[in-house]
Amino acid sequence: MTSTYVEINEIRSQVTKLRREGSTIGFVPTMGALHDGHISLVKKALEECNHCIVSIFINPKQFGPNEDFSSYPRMIRNDVDLLKKHSVQAIFIPNTSTIYPRGYSTTVSNQSNMPNVLCGQYREGHFDGVLTIVLKLLNIVAPDKAYFGKKDYQQLALIHRMAEDLNIPVEIIGGEIVRETDGLAMSSRNLRLTDEQRKIAPKIYESLQFGKRLFDEGVHNPSHLIEKVSKKLNQEAPEIQMQYIEIREQASLNPVAEKISSPSLLALAAFLGDVRLIDNIELG
Ligand code: AMP
Repeated sequence: MTSTYVEINEIRSQVTKLRREGSTIGFVPTMGALHDGHISLVKKALEECNHCIVSIFINPKQFGPNEDFSSYPRMIRNDVDLLKKHSVQAIFIPNTSTIYPRGYSTTVSNQSNMPNVLCGQYREGHFDGVLTIVLKLLNIVAPDKAYFGKKDYQQLALIHRMAEDLNIPVEIIGGEIVRETDGLAMSSRNLRLTDEQRKIAPKIYESLQFGKRLFDEGVHNPSHLIEKVSKKLNQEAPEIQMQYIEIREQASLNPVAEKISSPSLLALAAFLGDVRLIDNIELG
């Protein structure tokens, strides 16, 4: 039986009870509007732990003033039904005032350059907001393992770093990107695409696959590779406005100067209309 909780002490006592019974807990934090990408993390949690707990919280602190906080899809009923079908033990759906009560004044911030590259160049303060909410949720739920998708690769890398730096007693697990049949990475934001935009959107992943093919065929100079991928995408889908396309080292997100020699990532962010989509592919 799936239970939903809105209060911190309720979800905490539920976890304490499960722990007393000797169960292990997997945790999947989400912002709702759930799709198979989220469910893949739930399934992984249930394979590796006795119980899975999911949180649904659209975290205002990770949205910039001109971003889509107010238009972010909200569909709690569907989400709860879907999670029930997948035997989630508990769903934590806190109110904003529960998470950020009056007087709230602490932020978790990675002091390296990691939060300022890739998406961070265009989303000031975003990763402070992400790390703050993730640490709070980990403190509230206290799971054995917490699951995050590689679609948000920079987020996953920063969370790994935070868990290690702050000695958080949790294992951080990354899940593979789940895609629609036409290759588009699943995202709650896909719901905001028009039919026309939705038809064009798979070009994003096609271009990443093209990049990977070039890499496999021996194009190991990052600027050459990026130039070819951008050119192709621009020709085939001029409606897609690239925000960035970059090659970075996988764990550190450091830039790759002349030659891709360690495991790397080809990552991009692009706009289709006012919908911002991100995607990436691992190289090497
Ligand atoms: P969100 O609700 O967008 O904050 O996402 C919650 C979690 O689901 C994050 O760890 C995401 O990286 C992960 N996620 C979102 N979309 C996908 C996807 N297409 N494949 C795998 N994981 C995903």
